[in-house]
Amino acid sequence: MRADLHTHSAASDGTQSPAELVGAAAAAGLDVVAVTDHDTTAGWDEAAAAAVAHGVALVRGTEISTLSGWVSVHLLSYLHDPAEPALAAELEQTRRSRLGRARAMVDLLSRDLPITWDDVRAQAVGAVSVGRPHIADALVAAGVVPDRDTAFAHLLRAGGPYFVPHHAPSTAAAVRLVRAAGGVPVLAHPGADARGRTIPDEVFDELAAEGLAGIEVDHRDHTPAQRDRLRAIAARLDLLVTGSSDFHGTGKANRLGENLTDAHVVAAIEERGRLGVVRA
Ligand code: AMP
Ligand code: ZN
Ligand code: FE
Ligand code: FE
Repeated sequence: MRADLHTHSAASDGTQSPAELVGAAAAAGLDVVAVTDHDTTAGWDEAAAAAVAHGVALVRGTEISTLSGWVSVHLLSYLHDPAEPALAAELEQTRRSRLGRARAMVDLLSRDLPITWDDVRAQAVGAVSVGRPHIADALVAAGVVPDRDTAFAHLLRAGGPYFVPHHAPSTAAAVRLVRAAGGVPVLAHPGADARGRTIPDEVFDELAAEGLAGIEVDHRDHTPAQRDRLRAIAARLDLLVTGSSDFHGTGKANRLGENLTDAHVVAAIEERGRLGVVRA
């Protein structure tokens, strides 16, 4: 069984609609795909209809932006109730903050570079959750940089001259909110240290005590040494191990199915989640 448990649609910063994303997953030979847009469940219904049409199983998820101290931590939530008020309110606050933050970054950028808020809006059509990749795409369209990677390397990077942070819950609070909503919380790429600071070993213990269910180990941003470290932590804390592409469409080099999750892990996630996996 081929399961890819972390992908993005144009509901956040992917480049394909949820239906196109699920269709691409089927074409890539996946049996199971999780759609996990940043801080939103807006793509779920369209993805579910496409999953039935294409005969792919869909795990409905969200990648939640969180902070562990000053460290940016992404938390995947699988199969949670999207109507649960506390989690829904937290995600709504993050999305609202993302919008103000994107405008603030564009204000700063526009002092030095040919970019306007309208340019960014044109790149974020259909996006319920606005992110730096949309600003990157506007910079590409304006001819300022050749691609998203180059935009992130200097202009958009955290701590860079134009960076503005957005609201995010603490990672521990997010784990609790996800559990309270019947979701299965899994740390996304927690060893991706080329992106910025990552959490030390003891934070995994703290999050496991809060109800963390798993760790995404097989991810392109993890070195072999990081994968070994994370696998050992997962074994020590009895956490599930997942793998994924973190596909963003044409926005990043990541290809669907480039890393996969074992069938027994998918079954364990389904067993623990409040929602079911959508199947044809
Ligand atoms: P934001 O959520 O607005 O802070 O932006 C972070 C998002 O940008 C993440 O989802 C990444 O997938 C994406 N991202 C980070 N670094 C890069 C990069 N070098 N190239 C393309 N996308 C990136
Ligand atoms: Zn993203
Ligand atoms: Fe992420
Ligand atoms: Fe992601």
